[in-house]
Amino acid sequence: MCSWPKGQVVQAGPRGRHAPSPTGRLHLGNARTALLTWLDLRSRGGRVVLRIEDNDFTRSRAELEQRIYRDLAWLGIDWDEGPDVGGAFGPYRQSERGELYAAALARLDSYACTCSRAQLRALPTMGATGEVVYPGTCRGRAAAPGQAAAIRWRVPPGEVAFVDRVLGPVRQRVAEEVGDFVLRRADGVWAYQLAVVVDDGAMQIDEVLRGADLLDSTPRQILLQRALGLPTPTYAHVPLILGPGGAKLSKRDGAPDLSALREAGVAPERVIAVLAGSLGLVGPELRAVAARELVAGFALGALRERPLTLETLTLLR
Ligand code: GLU
Repeated sequence: MCSWPKGQVVQAGPRGRHAPSPTGRLHLGNARTALLTWLDLRSRGGRVVLRIEDNDFTRSRAELEQRIYRDLAWLGIDWDEGPDVGGAFGPYRQSERGELYAAALARLDSYACTCSRAQLRALPTMGATGEVVYPGTCRGRAAAPGQAAAIRWRVPPGEVAFVDRVLGPVRQRVAEEVGDFVLRRADGVWAYQLAVVVDDGAMQIDEVLRGADLLDSTPRQILLQRALGLPTPTYAHVPLILGPGGAKLSKRDGAPDLSALREAGVAPERVIAVLAGSLGLVGPELRAVAARELVAGFALGALRERPLTLETLTLLR
C-alpha cells in the first residue's frame, strides 16, 4: 500500500534523489550526474534516495534495474533509501506507486485527448526536445466510450520563474510554450512529469540535481507542484557529456557503458578520475580516485567543465 508521508522524519541535511530509468544500461553521462548528486548531498550531510523510474512499463526491464544497483555500488555511490534497502517513503519503484498518481490526477483539471500520432506529428515542437506544443485541440471534446485516450492537463496561464543552482534564472510560459501536456498516456503509462512531481513531493525531496536535458521539464513540474499544493525543491541542472558533434554522448560515439567497463575489469577509481577530471574536480593527469575522496570540499558552484575527449574514453576500454 502506498501512503502519503506523515511528515515525521526529522533530519538535518537535505534530501535528494537519483532517479534512473531502467530502460537502458547506465553510461558515463548517467554516472557523472549520479556522482554529482551524491557528492552534492554527501558533502552537506544529506540523504540520498534512489528511485527507480520504471513508470514506462513498455520499456523498463528488471534486469536493467539490477544492473543499476551493481554499477552504482561499483562506482562507490551509495544510497540511504531505495527499493533494495527500503525506507520510510517507499515504495521506491514508480511501477508500485500508481495509486498516488491516480489520486493526484483526480485533483487536476484534465481532459481526454484522442489526437492521432499523425495529428500530433503535424504540430510545432519545442526546443531541442522535439516535444509537441499542444494547442488544446481536444479541449471540450468528448472521447467516445471505450476509445483509448491520453489524459492532458489544462495548463493554467502565467509564467513560471525559478533560479537554477547551476544555470541561474530560468523562465517559461508553459501554457504558450508547451501547451496542455500529457499526464497519462493512452496505453495507461503515467507520464514522467506527473510521476516525478508526485514522488518528489511524497518523498520530501528538497533538492533535485539532474541532467540539463530535463531543464525544459522543470517549469511544468513547478506548475504541477503548485496545483497539487506541494513544495518546490531547489533545482540544479548539470551539463551533459557531449559527443564529438556536440550532441548528447551516445554509444555510437564509442562511449562504453558502466557494466561493460566493470565486466572488463576497469578500476572504478579510474572511471571516477575521468569523470571528476571532466568537471575540474581533480587534475586531468590524475589516474585514479575514489568517489568518497571527493566528498570533503565539494562545491557545486566550483565545477569547471572540461570536455571529455574520445581519446580519454578509449583509454577506459
Ligand atoms: N528518470 C529520468 C532519467 O533517467 C530522470 C528524472 C529526473 O531526474 O527528474 O532521465
